[in-house]
Amino acid sequence: MSKYTPMIEQYLSVKAQAQDAFLFFRLGDFYEMFFEDAVKAAQELEITLTGRDGGAEERIPMCGVPYHSAESYITRLIEKGYKVAICEQVEDPAEAKGVVRREIVRIVTPGTVMDGKTLGETKNNFLVCIASDDDRYGLAACDLSTGELFVTAIERSIEQLVDEINVYSPAELIGDPGVLSELRGSAAGWLSTKLFTDWERKDERLLAEHFPEEERMAVDPVARDGVALLLAYLSETQKRSLTHITHIESYERRQHMTMDPFTRRNLELTETVRERSKKGSLLWLLDRTVTSMGGRLLRRWIDKPLTNRADIEKRLEAVDCLYNGLIVREELRQQLKEVYDLQRLVGRISYGNANGRDLVALKLSLQQIPHVRRICETSGSATLRELGESMDECADIRQWIEDAVVDEPPVSVREGGLIKPGFHARLDQLREASTNGKKWIAELERQEREATGIKSLKIGYNKVFGYYIEVTRSNLGSLPEHRYERKQTLANAERFVTPELKEKEALILEAEEKMVDIEYGLFMELREKLAGQVKRLQQLAETIAAADVLQSFATVGAVYRYRRPAITDGYELDVEDGRHPVVEAILKDGSFIANDTKMASDDGRVLLITGPNMAGKSTYMRQVAMICIMAQIGSFVPAERAVVPIVDRIFTRIGAADDLVGGQSTFMVEMMDIRTMTAKATSRSLVIIDELGRGTSTGEGMAIAQAVIEYLHDRIGCKTLVSTHFHELAHLEEALAGLRNHCMAVKESGQDVTFLRKLIRGAADTSYGIYCARIAGLPDSIIERSYELLSRFEAISSVMQHADEAAAGVEKPAVERPKPEETAERNLLQADAVKESGP
Ligand code: ADP
Repeated sequence: MSKYTPMIEQYLSVKAQAQDAFLFFRLGDFYEMFFEDAVKAAQELEITLTGRDGGAEERIPMCGVPYHSAESYITRLIEKGYKVAICEQVEDPAEAKGVVRREIVRIVTPGTVMDGKTLGETKNNFLVCIASDDDRYGLAACDLSTGELFVTAIERSIEQLVDEINVYSPAELIGDPGVLSELRGSAAGWLSTKLFTDWERKDERLLAEHFPEEERMAVDPVARDGVALLLAYLSETQKRSLTHITHIESYERRQHMTMDPFTRRNLELTETVRERSKKGSLLWLLDRTVTSMGGRLLRRWIDKPLTNRADIEKRLEAVDCLYNGLIVREELRQQLKEVYDLQRLVGRISYGNANGRDLVALKLSLQQIPHVRRICETSGSATLRELGESMDECADIRQWIEDAVVDEPPVSVREGGLIKPGFHARLDQLREASTNGKKWIAELERQEREATGIKSLKIGYNKVFGYYIEVTRSNLGSLPEHRYERKQTLANAERFVTPELKEKEALILEAEEKMVDIEYGLFMELREKLAGQVKRLQQLAETIAAADVLQSFATVGAVYRYRRPAITDGYELDVEDGRHPVVEAILKDGSFIANDTKMASDDGRVLLITGPNMAGKSTYMRQVAMICIMAQIGSFVPAERAVVPIVDRIFTRIGAADDLVGGQSTFMVEMMDIRTMTAKATSRSLVIIDELGRGTSTGEGMAIAQAVIEYLHDRIGCKTLVSTHFHELAHLEEALAGLRNHCMAVKESGQDVTFLRKLIRGAADTSYGIYCARIAGLPDSIIERSYELLSRFEAISSVMQHADEAAAGVEKPAVERPKPEETAERNLLQADAVKESGP
């Protein structure tokens, strides 16, 4: 004998099917949770924990949320990285023998959210699935809300896998348990993912059903395994058709610039390091999209800069046309503004939760397409023309909705009021019957007023009593006896009925009930018909999104006076008056100081930048990376002129985001990054290292810094920007043919220092560390003491250096280094010279 009641027994058997989820168990108007779920949910959701007698000795912990507000509770749990299994009553309680049958109808997980507040409008919500074979990983990334599915194969290196996963910032990761456990361990700090689920069951049958053979076969086997795993997981959790996943978009990693997670974060491509907000990121700056689809695509383009020159040029060609064609651009923006989120509308249609308003939104969007198409085709840009020509206007789909659905349908699809007159004969008849009935009632009211002489007599309706005749108490005297049948007494009125009135009422209500049924049926039919067209609509959505992103680039470019970069397959990077796009935009007042960049293989493949803190070194180095990324996503760039070679990979070691990887010292992290860099960089890579060699003793730091620079310069030949505190490293310029010293110009007068933010040739000599300490407000006594000690240390070190050199027989560098005052002066002069030669 079980110790629990039958209902609790049922609960336990359902719960066994969804052990890793909160089980929302439907009981009447509530979803209840029991046992540990209840305890944990009460904590997470801050709701009251109660108990329930379940047959056993101890009461069972229980808590619940009302059915009608469940959505917000589910969202909160999902956002915290949990899963929620929704268990409904699946038979009519009136017909049930014993406990009502209940089943899990859907498991909501962070990666499978379909709507609600959880989904940022302009952000994809990716579920990423990892498969593996002996020497590779297969990655499948799916956004269930839009039906997009991207797959690729990756060589077996956990770092590369993490890089690629990061492209998608997935909400949830599933797949190969071995790989997942490695990811949880080594890389968790780099992943934004809240939920990892081991998942080993592939569904080959579903895969075969879903995609035609040629599409499946075009996908790399290990990536295809990823899709098979993914589909199995989706069907397990969603328990419904996934018809809107219509296409596998397969790509190779080398089609995109590679960036490790640190670089993405540090360059603040899609969010800032500190607030982790979009505002202040490159995405924020470039986002002048006017559709949600465009917003999402822009983010993806930023996450995946291209490496194929022809593809980049295609985008640039369109941006160029829109940049120069203000009228076309504005017109395009206006038309696109009216286009709703086609991708998510389509998602809801095939999921079966689109309502009348969604279909009207689809119709209105489709109305815009001919205009958008015409603008693209006549814009004068080959790329836009091609986009326009590939836009399927879906006029038939628009017409279906236009014919059937009223212009302003209600939210509910079960209460009628959805279908247009003239669409369905029987529906029209019933409507007429109901309208006639209502007319008859209005006429009756008029007649009865006349007959009784009671002007305030009226006929009303409510759900409980139906139609009634109402006479106020004061008028009851003038009412002939037995004229009507008394039905209800109110405080100051009586309500009556007549047999004829009841008869008409029955007719009207019957007609209305039938109407609602017919409307619902017609609506479902239409929705299913539309669901058969998802592929066309998705393809259309993609072209619309692309047009939107291209206009966004043109719009931003025009606002900030960006220029079209010349993209080359060569080596040399040549930027005139480059700016950091985000810093420039935030400064607003035009005070950003532009700087040139020239990096040729034999002249400046390594730029060694010295200069004090706050001088603008790291801004400058990031600016170079930004310009490369912007060029490779097809945007114009913040410069007067730019020749940008295609970069295969960007590495950065900048700033202090080291808190990300707990438990390791900054120095260790730096060394590990540098190891990856040396292993992975090619001559086509861009490497940026800020403050190389800090975090250990000066001697060692400098030694490592020099060795790393030599390695990058001699062995790899990548474009490298290094900033350093060690001005002593400046002597490397003599030994390394491709290295050039630069520094940030500074103006000194007395004890005051002004940063000119101008990059000039040559090395800085002083760090101005003590100056910064003074600006920061340290007590004067400390500042004075620091200057005193500094001169003492400098004296000692110079003596030691002479001694060392004498002992080792080292020759002094051939170039005499100028004294500090002279350097400052020279910097200043050079800065002025640069300024004057500027525009
Ligand atoms: P460093 O790396 O040398 O310590 P940063 O690059 O962090 O210096 O720059 C310090 C500050 O100077 C930044 O907050 C930035 O706003 C400002 N800045 C940097 N470069 C420029 C520039 N070219 N024009 C105007 N302001 C700049």
